Amino acid sequence: MKYKGAILILSGPSGAGKSSLYKILAQEFPSHYFSISSTTRKKREGEIEGVHYYFIEKDVFENGIQKGEFLEWAQVHGNYYGTSKTQVLKALQEDKLVIFDIDVQGQANLKKIFPNQTTSVFITTPSKSILKERLSGRGSDSAEVIQKRLENALDEVESLHNFDFLIINENLEESAKQLVCIARSAFCRASLYQLQPFLQNWKK
Ligand code: ADP
Ligand code: 5GP
Repeated sequence: MKYKGAILILSGPSGAGKSSLYKILAQEFPSHYFSISSTTRKKREGEIEGVHYYFIEKDVFENGIQKGEFLEWAQVHGNYYGTSKTQVLKALQEDKLVIFDIDVQGQANLKKIFPNQTTSVFITTPSKSILKERLSGRGSDSAEVIQKRLENALDEVESLHNFDFLIINENLEESAKQLVCIARSAFCRASLYQLQPFLQNWKK
């Protein structure tokens, strides 16, 4: 007897390839729910409100914190980012695979809240210099923002040991295959099942 959906967290330095890998994964799991975060950072070119993020003002975000509207929130690269409770809890109750692209603080917090449901993957480049190339190649951030993200990456990789899986995203297709395997296994973790009722029923 399975009692709730599963959580899959994608974390890792900005520019490592989380969004690119998520896009491929999403095609394999049509019934998943992607948790759309709220953020106070500026919208990048091509980003869509309500698809990539809910872009909100700092005072609105802080008001949300006060009212307890976030399951988790953190300050990352100088901006607020947070996961709203309502939609995620609904998706879990509907037995869906709920996918998050959140930072290492968010991963630690969600793991505490949902220890049985959570599978987490750290995604990184083979090296810091490749990360720099990808951030520059993406063309979405200023030199100053890229510098800040690279500095933060040095701290983020120190949290690697808190994750269930590691993907070194050298080749996108290969990494996507690994991620699909991880997502499938996230959905059949023994800890997702109420084992006593299952066993009682099984023995009948
Ligand atoms: P993140 O979501 O982790 O910030 P993105 O998915 O936006 O990262 O990827 C950052 C940049 O690197 C993008 O321009 C993307 O096309 C590119 N990229 C992603 N994965 C690879 C890869 N395996 N090889 C080369 N470039 C990649
Ligand atoms: P970006 O600005 O590149 O979209 O995201 C910056 C960082 O914020 C990434 O590491 C991303 O995973 C993280 N992030 C995005 N949304 C959330 C969230 O809701 N909570 C937390 N803790 N981190 C988030």
